[in-house]
Amino acid sequence: MSDYSANQWMKFIKTEPIDVEICDVTLRDGEQTPGVSFTKDEKIEIARKLDEIGVEVIEAGFPVVSQGEKDSIRAIAHLGLDAKICCLSRAVKPDIDAVIDCDADVVGIFMGTSDIHLKYKHKKTQDEAIECMVTALEHAKKHGLIVRFAAEDSTRTDLGFLKRFYKAGEEAGADYVSIADTVGIMNPSSMKYLVSEIKNTVKIPICVHCHDDLGLAVANTMAAAEAGAKQLHTTMNGIGERAGNAALEEVLMGLIIHYGVDKYDISHLNALSEMVADYSGIRVAKNKAVVGANAFAHESGIHIAALLENDRTYELYSAEMVGGHREFILGKHSGNKALCYMARQLGFTLSRAETDLVLEEIKRLSDSKQSLRKEELAELIARVLSKDKASVTHA
Ligand code: MN
Repeated sequence: MSDYSANQWMKFIKTEPIDVEICDVTLRDGEQTPGVSFTKDEKIEIARKLDEIGVEVIEAGFPVVSQGEKDSIRAIAHLGLDAKICCLSRAVKPDIDAVIDCDADVVGIFMGTSDIHLKYKHKKTQDEAIECMVTALEHAKKHGLIVRFAAEDSTRTDLGFLKRFYKAGEEAGADYVSIADTVGIMNPSSMKYLVSEIKNTVKIPICVHCHDDLGLAVANTMAAAEAGAKQLHTTMNGIGERAGNAALEEVLMGLIIHYGVDKYDISHLNALSEMVADYSGIRVAKNKAVVGANAFAHESGIHIAALLENDRTYELYSAEMVGGHREFILGKHSGNKALCYMARQLGFTLSRAETDLVLEEIKRLSDSKQSLRKEELAELIARVLSKDKASVTHA
């Protein structure tokens, strides 16, 4: 058991390995983030990185929306990646034909199944919705596509109808059924219940697609996985419509730490995060788990002193695992151990008196809301020491 496995640290509960796959939807749902549009080259670069991480499916787009979208998807489908390429499609023939044109492997055919979607969006009865979906599915299957049979707004759909809908899909030859928490209404216990109900209804694998309107997208995705959902939908940095989707980096770390799923190359996560932030123009919050600038930054003197003794004291897993790096920041919570450690890295050996002087200056600055990263420390040390006219050994 690795030293970051939750099973090693949490003495009160043990989890079992689970069998899941990732369908990353950064290029589709992520691109539906207001104001975001990726160029073809950007999409290709993101797809390659997702493939290096090892996600099983890349949802590359919604081909019917534009010729440019279609060209990008086709280019990705022809990259020869290990990941299967999936496209989104409404339950209408022209959408499916656009997917076939792109040489994609998988089509996610969707229709809103909640009363509110059926009435106001589709203006269809429940039976008409099923009929429409099954006709589209048959057309896709005839052309050799793997079909994901998706109920949009599943989580506000009458459960009896939702079961009937998925059953109809399974009987007509669907390869997956998909639960979409389109408006992000679920919590982990309702998600667990729903997935287990659907698992008792169909034998084909279940996908889960969670939105973050209550900040629970990742938690709900993990709950679904624990209840037996096979395919988990994610986006890098959690971008997506409104509050976004379940974040790839958080879901992968949860899978590794809680369930021992170690088939993904997470060392690319920081690089992909930066790439997606750059191309989408959506900056990552500093305190974002896994990939935020502060995810491995420490200021507290107490924490830093302990970390220097043992990494796991205040870090669940190491920054290097996810392609990031640890950073010590000096501020009013810092102590002399942290300062000496950072000064040594910069080539300074400080006496006790010098350390006190520098620390005093750091605390004075931090009272006016300034904290120091490594680069700024060298300058400060030089300034304080020259003012003091003390001798300094600069290696
Ligand atoms: Mn979505």
